[in-house]
Amino acid sequence: MQRFQQYIDGAFDDGSARFDSIDPATGTVWAEMPEAREGDVDRAVKAAERALYDGPWATMTATQRGKLLFRLADLVAQRALVLAELETRDTGKIIRETSAQIAYVAEYYRYYAGLADKIEGSTLPIDKPDMDVWLRREPVGVVAAIVPWNSQLFLSAVKLGPALAAGCTLVVKASEDGPAPLLEFARLVHEAGFPAGVVNVITGFGPSCGAALTRHPGVAHIAFTGGPGTAAAVVRNSAENLASTSLELGGKSPFIVFADADLESAANAQVAGIFAATGQSCVAGSRLIVERSVKDRFLAILKSRAEAVKIGSPLDMATEVGPLCTDRQRKLIESVVTASAEAGAKLVAGGSRPKDEGYYYAPTILDCDGVSSPSVETELFGPVLSVLSFETEAEAVQLANATRFGLAAGVFTQNLARAHRMIRKIRSGIVWVNTYRAVSPIAPFGGFGQSGHGREGGLAAALDYTRTKTVWVRT
Ligand code: NAD
Repeated sequence: MQRFQQYIDGAFDDGSARFDSIDPATGTVWAEMPEAREGDVDRAVKAAERALYDGPWATMTATQRGKLLFRLADLVAQRALVLAELETRDTGKIIRETSAQIAYVAEYYRYYAGLADKIEGSTLPIDKPDMDVWLRREPVGVVAAIVPWNSQLFLSAVKLGPALAAGCTLVVKASEDGPAPLLEFARLVHEAGFPAGVVNVITGFGPSCGAALTRHPGVAHIAFTGGPGTAAAVVRNSAENLASTSLELGGKSPFIVFADADLESAANAQVAGIFAATGQSCVAGSRLIVERSVKDRFLAILKSRAEAVKIGSPLDMATEVGPLCTDRQRKLIESVVTASAEAGAKLVAGGSRPKDEGYYYAPTILDCDGVSSPSVETELFGPVLSVLSFETEAEAVQLANATRFGLAAGVFTQNLARAHRMIRKIRSGIVWVNTYRAVSPIAPFGGFGQSGHGREGGLAAALDYTRTKTVWVRT
């Protein structure tokens, strides 16, 4: 059985306790993880505080910080296969996805490495001839970075990259579900030569480890990705240390297809948008909103694709749909699909367990037209597509916005003017037109409404990890 360690103050140790990690493809224990408890959290935050104010990091130039980030990016690229395999093993996310995503992870570190020495202050044209006034940009302080189990390397990179570029130090809390890739990543941080305490990587359970971290008086900013319910607990805890927060939360993203769209290409995007990563993506296009005149044709294409998808071992490059990360998640999905069918939703495809072992669930399509189906409202984080239809553009907008979330949306049409009208009216942080799930380190990412606030990616994200100091000098 493989054993993993936590990383605090530049050293690896076993943590206060240990817990088992389950391989979702088989449902059996495959590794042992270090559980961080309150004492470990305290040690990690104090190490980050010392590194921020007293260690070599505090006097390093921005260019030197950038060089360390470039080295880290190179190491991530060199060990891509090991990291991708660990992520697949521990979370069940297919190797096709994890290996493609790890290339992005290296790119994000490279982007922020290059940005480190481009974070500038400014001078202020105060109306006093004998006074120089300027703004210094300084690191915001110790950052608690908390990530969910899916895409832990990616979701930590979008926090670590800008925070390190800005000169912050961090305690990264990996999810208790599938922490292996992030614990392994800590070894690359060490090898890259970051001074002790600059990056600390721990894992543990939300109500103990997560709560201790978000309440800790040494934490200045909490960068959280996860569910909205957990985010509410994080914000309540942050009332104790008055830390600022950025929240990247769930979604129930509309995928809107007009009759004039290229239906084949829209179907490809829809299948990838909901079934890739077994639907365990915050931007999963989980609500198909299709123009009524092409609904049957589009559903027929989707049904044949959903039924032809190759379900298998997540470690096999040919597999298109792997298991869910936890049995808990599969049970939630099953209960909502059953309740939706009872409410009148029609099962077009899937709705069953395709394998006896592991946490598999078949790609599922539910026709929810004219039905009050719980699958339309609940974020399922699984391979379940709810279908609705419309006749007018206004109806499409109304259906798209009928959600408390607002993370992403897809619009498929060949009518340029209509695409622009939709972009204006849809309430979400990202709109993809005739494409879906595209990301880049240069493009900000984040949501409206209960999908959170704050943006990751782009220059602004690095500035979010700084605070300004106003300096007045009499000359
Ligand atoms: P989760 O909210 O259950 O857990 C997220 C993290 O919070 C975990 O590390 C967990 O241990 C920790 N946590 C739990 N309770 C805590 C507490 N009281 N205090 C502090 N930390 C606590 O989420 P999950 O089930 O792991 O992931 C799925 C959710 O993440 C979905 O809602 C999904 O949409 C969202 N997500 C959002 C994005 C995005 O960028 N917007 C990306 C990926 C996933």
